[in-house]
Amino acid sequence: MNNKRKKTELLVATTNKGKMHEMQALLAGSGLEVLNLGNFPKMDEVEEKGTSFRENAILKAEEYGKHCGLLTLADDSGLEVDILNGEPGIYSARYGGPGKTDADRNELVLSKVKRYEDHQLTARFRCVVAIWEPCSNKTQTFEGTVEGLILKELRGEQGFGYDPLFYFPPYGKTLGQVSRSEKEKISHRGQAVRKAVKYIRTQL
Ligand code: IMP
Repeated sequence: MNNKRKKTELLVATTNKGKMHEMQALLAGSGLEVLNLGNFPKMDEVEEKGTSFRENAILKAEEYGKHCGLLTLADDSGLEVDILNGEPGIYSARYGGPGKTDADRNELVLSKVKRYEDHQLTARFRCVVAIWEPCSNKTQTFEGTVEGLILKELRGEQGFGYDPLFYFPPYGKTLGQVSRSEKEKISHRGQAVRKAVKYIRTQL
């Protein structure tokens, strides 16, 4: 007799490679079988039409989830710089317009913050993870934030996106200068994903 219970499958619905690597590491010990969009027939990228991280995370989890018919996790995340009125915020991935690279977007932030004093450059990364559940057709959200400061120069080559600009005082380094496991412990995404895994394990 085969006593092995089949692992619960979880689709991680993201097209961002940096995020996917972090999600895979974060979910490695979760007991879930992680699938990605490459395991399913191709669909158009879900448009982020929402006006908040939460709305966009729900949109992505529900649209990708319904397409694939599977328990689905999607996140929406970004950088909020206080002195820039929370920019780039929900526009973090498309800051400065289409066709830009992470390096272009970092340059744009640098150009906007250079006139301010260092102590004015408080900022945070925010992440909302949405879990869509096919049987109930319900969606739950979980949030994480990490507070830091924007530097006036890039430091480090780890991570992705705005990591080399984001200084995390308790480490005395930017998130571009820390290992994946150091980032995982404190990151906005780490916090939100851990809450989501706890929910899946206890509620579903
Ligand atoms: P979206 O959630 O796919 O809309 O994209 C989020 C964008 O926010 C990314 O493309 C990055 O530019 C930025 N971002 C989100 N999380 C991180 C992070 O952990 N490090 C650096 N940049 C991030």
